[in-house]
Amino acid sequence: MSTAETHAPPLPARDRYDVVVVGARCAGAATALLLARAGLRVLAVDRGRHGADTLSTHALMRAGVLQLRRWGLLGAIAAAGTPPVASAIFVYGDEHLDLPIKPRHGVSAMFAPRRTLLDALLVDAARASGAEVRHRLAVTELARDRHGRVAGLALQSPAGEVAEVRADLVVGADGLASTVAAHAGAPTLHATTHATAVLYGYWPRAPIFARAAYRWYWRPGLGAGVIPTGDGLDCAFVLLPPARYQREVGAGAAALMARALAELDPDLAAALPPGRRVGPLRHFPGAPGVLRQAHGPGWALVGDAGYFKDPCTAHGISDALRDAELLARAVTGAAPGGLAGYQATRDDLSLPLLRVSDRIASLDWDLAALREDHRTLNQEMAREVEHLAALPAAPPLAA
Ligand SMILES: Cc1cc2nc3c(=O)[nH]c(=O)nc-3n(C[C@H](O)[C@H](O)[C@H](O)COP(=O)(O)OP(=O)(O)OC[C@H]3O[C@@H](n4cnc5c(N)ncnc54)[C@H](O)[C@@H]3O)c2cc1C
Repeated sequence: MSTAETHAPPLPARDRYDVVVVGARCAGAATALLLARAGLRVLAVDRGRHGADTLSTHALMRAGVLQLRRWGLLGAIAAAGTPPVASAIFVYGDEHLDLPIKPRHGVSAMFAPRRTLLDALLVDAARASGAEVRHRLAVTELARDRHGRVAGLALQSPAGEVAEVRADLVVGADGLASTVAAHAGAPTLHATTHATAVLYGYWPRAPIFARAAYRWYWRPGLGAGVIPTGDGLDCAFVLLPPARYQREVGAGAAALMARALAELDPDLAAALPPGRRVGPLRHFPGAPGVLRQAHGPGWALVGDAGYFKDPCTAHGISDALRDAELLARAVTGAAPGGLAGYQATRDDLSLPLLRVSDRIASLDWDLAALREDHRTLNQEMAREVEHLAALPAAPPLAA
């Protein structure tokens, strides 16, 4: 912890901004970065600490990698030691499918950077572009003008200091349990029924994972994955029905994970012994997906705050990086239709992904049906990549 972090966080420098973004991770920091590059006065606040980890595995899909490349940030991810991933291996029952990543739109490899790296890099880039970013400040209330339009917000430091800030637009990038969505009264447009519980942790790279690949393992009722990340570590996770997780986790999470891995593939379990794990296992008990209204008078939502889906398709970060740019372009007038246009494009690209994620999250399929869902997922991800690749270049990093 730096000396500055042990003291009370500084309150914002101004009392008025063009845009205040609540939440400074992949959705919020990216939105702040793009709005600042477009010349707006931007404040981003987060109640957490700069560079802190969060509950998430971190496989980027092509859309996410493309966005980092378009914004000039991919080099820093690779330079920090995140290995390029050249193929995706799907293990359906006993059948292995090895799919090389085809070079397209300047992307020839995937990356799975730790959130401590990715989110911090986005924050630093937002600051370098002129955004003010303040951590350890929580948004507690939205302020409205006499017409009921959101016109600012109240911030609170851990010591109880309060500041009020005015803004033309308040962006909620504050995650699934969004305070901005709740206080703005954002209606739910779609909700899904299924969810997977996730257990994940980090292991030193085992010889069988020496070739850097995203590896996914599937059998009815179970899923797992291994993704290579920095520091010579692999992130390994299992996806379980929430009822099984609740029933069995009490007797030991490590044993439950080892059992699930062995049910999927004994070699997988042997490569990830509990005793070699680095750090604790992380638990996510599962939450159904939701698509919320993305905007209203004086407010907008981006990232999980507006659109959350089950992690079984590992697409939330890529969505966040995609929608940060769709929103920034709508706010600055670079895209037609304003915030309504943002919502229309977000929903067009998101709804098929939300629906297919929900089907996969049921873990209640046979392998032929799952492969069909993965083909649909692949087509929809290709459609979103084409959409992003056709956008004009984002403004370059400020010197
Ligand atoms: C177990 C699990 C595994 C996952 N694996 C993957 C994966 O492999 N690949 C992938 O692409 N996606 C994955 N996801 C999804 C991904 O984590 C999310 O989609 C992503 O984190 C969304 O980013 P965000 O910036 O919208 O929100 P978040 O990452 O949730 O960030 C929100 C921020 O808002 C701040 N905040 C909240 N409330 C306030 C407030 N009132 N005031 C100030 N700040 C506030 C929080 O401190 C936080 O920093 C996974 C999710 C889970 C749960």
